[in-house]
Amino acid sequence: MLSTVHIGLYATHPFKPCRTCKGKGNHRSPLALAYRPCRPCGGSGMRLRTGRRLWNTFTRVRRSRRDNARNVQRPGN
Ligand SMILES: [Zn+2]
Repeated sequence: MLSTVHIGLYATHPFKPCRTCKGKGNHRSPLALAYRPCRPCGGSGMRLRTGRRLWNTFTRVRRSRRDNARNVQRPGN
């Protein structure tokens, strides 16, 4: 039940604001007074949720398995 809600949340909101820059995409360097692009999010300010990343990996594996099975069934290929 709860996991279903989680999956729906990951599907509709795959991104969340970056914790390091708070979604701004850059942050002030602690030593120099200069704004630098945020490294964890690559300057986009958004990060992919962990659950979504796992889901992407899962679908990729599933798709490659399916394609492999299809290739085996195809004769003379
Ligand atoms: Zn960031």
